Amino acid sequence: MAKQVRIFQLAKKLGLRTEALLKVLAEMGLEDVSATSSIDIETAKAAAELLAEQAKEARKRAEEAAAAEVARLEAEAKAAQEAQEAAAEAQPAAAEEAPAEEAAEGAAETEEGAEAAAGEAEEPEAPARWAPAWAAPESLRTLEEQLAELEQELEEDDEPIFVPLPEEARRPKGERPDNATDVPPVVSVLGHVDHGKTTLLDALRETDVVDGEHGGITQHIGASEIELDDQKIVFVDTPGHAAFTQMRARGGQVADIVILVVAADDGVMPQTIEAIGHAKAADVPIIVAINKIDMPGADPSRVKQALLEYELVAEDFGGDTIMVPVSALKKEGLDNLLEMILLVAEVQELWADPDVSFTGVVVEAGMDDSRGPLSTVLVRNGEVKVGDVVLCGTTWGRIRRLNDWRGKSVKSMGPGHPVEVIGLSEVPQSGQVMTAVEGVKEARATAGDRGDALRDVAMEGNARASLKDLYRELGELTVKDLNLSLKADVWGSVQALEDALMDLNDQLDEIDINIISMGVGEVNESDVMLAVASEAIILGFHVGIADAAVRMAETEHVEIRTYEIIYEALEDIQAAMVGMLDPIFEERVIGHGRALRIFRISRIGVIAGSVITDGHAQRNAKMTVTRAGETVFEGTLQSLRRFENEARTVEAPNECGIATNDFRGWEEGDEMEFRADVEIPRNTTFKNTR
Ligand code: GDP
Repeated sequence: MAKQVRIFQLAKKLGLRTEALLKVLAEMGLEDVSATSSIDIETAKAAAELLAEQAKEARKRAEEAAAAEVARLEAEAKAAQEAQEAAAEAQPAAAEEAPAEEAAEGAAETEEGAEAAAGEAEEPEAPARWAPAWAAPESLRTLEEQLAELEQELEEDDEPIFVPLPEEARRPKGERPDNATDVPPVVSVLGHVDHGKTTLLDALRETDVVDGEHGGITQHIGASEIELDDQKIVFVDTPGHAAFTQMRARGGQVADIVILVVAADDGVMPQTIEAIGHAKAADVPIIVAINKIDMPGADPSRVKQALLEYELVAEDFGGDTIMVPVSALKKEGLDNLLEMILLVAEVQELWADPDVSFTGVVVEAGMDDSRGPLSTVLVRNGEVKVGDVVLCGTTWGRIRRLNDWRGKSVKSMGPGHPVEVIGLSEVPQSGQVMTAVEGVKEARATAGDRGDALRDVAMEGNARASLKDLYRELGELTVKDLNLSLKADVWGSVQALEDALMDLNDQLDEIDINIISMGVGEVNESDVMLAVASEAIILGFHVGIADAAVRMAETEHVEIRTYEIIYEALEDIQAAMVGMLDPIFEERVIGHGRALRIFRISRIGVIAGSVITDGHAQRNAKMTVTRAGETVFEGTLQSLRRFENEARTVEAPNECGIATNDFRGWEEGDEMEFRADVEIPRNTTFKNTR
């Protein structure tokens, strides 16, 4: 995917107003974008070039206009001189007037021409109005430099939106060895929120013939398996909330087949498009489940039509994308869908080597209070056994227990199946590869080396000054810090929360969200200690707070907020960010009044006995006095009295005495306008860009 940049960030980089950039993008045919939309670097370049071009033209026109003005002045001077000379010459022979007139006419013509040229030039040229400094020819070079810089920054800064899965986490490729075994397809159900993914997954699970015999699931591990006619299908769970893009992307990457659920009554929606992107990026075939066909407004052909745009062409539209109408709720069409899954899987000829050393990919991981770090692993190759020493990212351990997808303890698990692994020293991250290693010594050494390498990278990252730091240094922005510490039940949620918070961070220049620590498990004393040191707020997601941490937080005045729903956490943070913004004051008209009677009192001065006609008057307000539409005074309202007493404010329709030392020429009937600096509530709308 080409490098992406947010429009407002690009505008900032180029020293432009965002609206100006949006205007140019609209001219380029990109109308459905807003300040927080992302565009790719090529589009960014094209927009900047168009701007530069426009600015250059505007400048050229301005220069032409200036030249025309010079020509006009010269022509005028010349004509006047000629007229003078002609007049002088004509004096002796009055019959020769014509040339002088002609000359005068000629001058007039030139003048008209020049005026026309000047008129054209005065026409405000949009680009000239908001053309940034670099648009001047001498600094056009800077534009190129800035773009190159931007590209460089994107190159360095922007983590790839989706971290690709390591090669070992994918299906083995190449020649199928003789000893290979067939493995079940791994299926991810993706689609827009509320289109019925959960309902469909549950309904599909219920079709499992074995399920009834085993008495259902005891402990859900984030993946499941069903068996029909001796054939198995593995489903991995993918969270639905918008913030979990990364996890869904991973779900798409580990899958052999993506089921794209599209509600027939709702059609193609943002997360539908996102899901198509994930599947295509991972090169995984898509089966479309057109769901909710039982609904009155359901129109499967409209969904098929809409999907054409994303190169998903239904078979009855002449393409080869399998689209199955279903009702997850009424359990209609499920057999057909399962049949199609098995059909697509059969074509893929999925295999694994059971005899090589174990490798697996983590699809879910978390912390359990009594059992410690847990991870659900999809066994890719080989076999994993209780007692094996395994390595996963920077963590390792000897496997104490393995559970199958129903939570039932097993001694080993072969390739193609999900299994819950207990015994790691820390919670791994989803998407990481788990491998069996020789022994504890090797595991510890490799995990240590990897940890060191990660820390080095992190240090480098910290050393790099952020754009906001730069602003801060330049004193252009008062940037306030919002320090946060994140705890969640699983790493996926921590990452999702981090991603979503960084998204918010990018949307508001004046607040800098710093995530000072992240972790899995309940909020504990060391979290609170760290929060004290860094003045951070602790956000817990799906986790409890240890009693000792509660007590410590109380005495140390550390705020701990826990959430069950991610968008509630995000809403809270958004509110906190807006609350931290400096208030903006703007001069506004606060009221009007009219002078009814003028009192001239010696030693005190002139007091206008007035009525407030609307709004209010307030002491020290700015005041404009007009008479018959003409301004007679502009200054400050210095004294405001009501019933002999000084008043701070007087509301309409009350009467009052108004005076100012700077103006004594009051007359009855004078109109007053009062203005004051009013605090404008800060209102920032955040956009969910994921
Ligand atoms: P998810 O957000 O994609 O996981 O969607 P859910 O499975 O939670 O379903 C969202 C809503 O749609 C729920 O109220 C379901 O009962 C309803 N729903 C799901 N499938 C169907 C269906 O086939 N027909 C109808 N009428 N409603 C459905």
